[in-house]
Amino acid sequence: MICDNLKTIYRQIEEAAVRAGRDPQSVRLVAVSKRQGLERILEALDCGQELFGENYLQEAREKIEQLGDRGRFHFIGHLQSNKARQAAELFTMVETVDRLKIARALDRHAKALGRSLDILLQVNVGREPQKAGVLPENLEELARDVATLPSLRLRGLMTMPPYTTDPEESRPFFRSLCQLARELRDKDLFADNSRVELSMGMSRDFPVAIEEGATLVRVGTAIFGPRP
Ligand SMILES: *Cc1c(COP(=O)(O)O)cnc(C)c1O
Repeated sequence: MICDNLKTIYRQIEEAAVRAGRDPQSVRLVAVSKRQGLERILEALDCGQELFGENYLQEAREKIEQLGDRGRFHFIGHLQSNKARQAAELFTMVETVDRLKIARALDRHAKALGRSLDILLQVNVGREPQKAGVLPENLEELARDVATLPSLRLRGLMTMPPYTTDPEESRPFFRSLCQLARELRDKDLFADNSRVELSMGMSRDFPVAIEEGATLVRVGTAIFGPRP
């Protein structure tokens, strides 16, 4: 079932990219495996899916340790600075950096581990008070500060627009994120300004996100089914 779902999603990714005149290879699928058992991740790995997203540190640690060197993981949950060491150790990318304190903690631990860590800045484009993410007007300052941290590589931006059942309602928020990324790129603030990552779109709205420029889509339910 997971293999069939993955096939369907890769086809939808390709169709959305083609509609937007984009190279389908420029979009990567992050299979969001939070609260799904290890056996489902193994099933997805056997179908060729390599990249996963996890939200909870302890749960992710257990899975990643059991998988050995199989699979790569992005952290997409809310991060506290006392968990930064674990995050720097376990993940190839942290997508949810939204304040300098967290960035500094990740930088320090990445350095101690002798690695550099890819990060995204999470932006609260919908300005929802209960949601994580830096507000658009504070983004540039955060990006400038983060760009000076030697063991972090600022790869791009991430967002989670307000909940809606109509994917078209997410479109303006995806468009805003893309515009914000363009502004930072024009100011040379990313580690690689020729390849800026935009993480946006989930099960409900990833085709729209791809039409608006997503390079990473985070899809859980549509691959693994409802979370237990
Ligand atoms: C859970 C989660 C997803 C996946 O959501 P689905 O609707 O199951 O596809 C994507 N991004 C983040 C940040 C999440 O927490």
